[in-house]
Amino acid sequence: MQEPLKYEVEVQEDGRVELKVPLPQGTPVTVFVTQEPVDDFYDLLLASEDGLDLWDDEGEDWDEEEGAQATRLVADPREVERLAEEREDENWAFRDWIKLEFDFDDERLMSVVRELADDITAQIDCTQCANCCRKTTTEVDDADIERLADALGMTITAFQEAYLEFDEDYGGRWLLPAPCPLLEGNLCRVYEARPTSCREYPHLHNDFRAASISRISNTFICPIVFNVVEEMKYALRWPHRNRWRR
Ligand code: SF4
Ligand code: SF4
Repeated sequence: MQEPLKYEVEVQEDGRVELKVPLPQGTPVTVFVTQEPVDDFYDLLLASEDGLDLWDDEGEDWDEEEGAQATRLVADPREVERLAEEREDENWAFRDWIKLEFDFDDERLMSVVRELADDITAQIDCTQCANCCRKTTTEVDDADIERLADALGMTITAFQEAYLEFDEDYGGRWLLPAPCPLLEGNLCRVYEARPTSCREYPHLHNDFRAASISRISNTFICPIVFNVVEEMKYALRWPHRNRWRR
């Protein structure tokens, strides 16, 4: 496996840059030049794929035609749950690495996560899944309750009695239980008025590192999260990945 080297140098007067590399004379190398700051380091990593034998892993597909998609997309929530169980130790080890060792700052990390999340979300049809609506409870605030009651033509009290549970923990809060009583088949009866938490699920545009326990837990439930975490292992070049695959 080749080790890519990263240099930060200044362009000299005549437009030249000098790089002293620990390789024998005559070794062919490929050099990418970008102007700092690099807006999207993830693109740079992907651009380097073709020239480097980085994925020393025969057990996984690297589909050069797909480019960014390093792993097979898994959309079936039952298959996702099975694979998440199989990869549970691996995923927690990856989470520890992100949290404790990986040197991207939060902003840089999130630019990779957001890009992967947008790409994978576009490939998954939530109306064929609805697993989050079946498996997770949803906290609703006063504005959510008012909007939902209005959408259903009910008073707030009638809506609370018919659909919500009151949780005494954390100072008290209203919850839509799981499976959600507002789910019909795979569709939400109140989609336009759905709670803020439902709109933001699976929360991949929020700070991944700070919420990493929740994100790894969601690999069991949400195909988008499962696939994003799998892609992150490649995109961020997690060095311990091969340790877990047989
Ligand atoms: S309110 Fe709608 S989107 Fe939210 S959990 Fe229930 S069915 Fe799903
Ligand atoms: S957000 Fe995730 S769990 Fe929810 S329906 Fe979409 S893919 Fe399924």
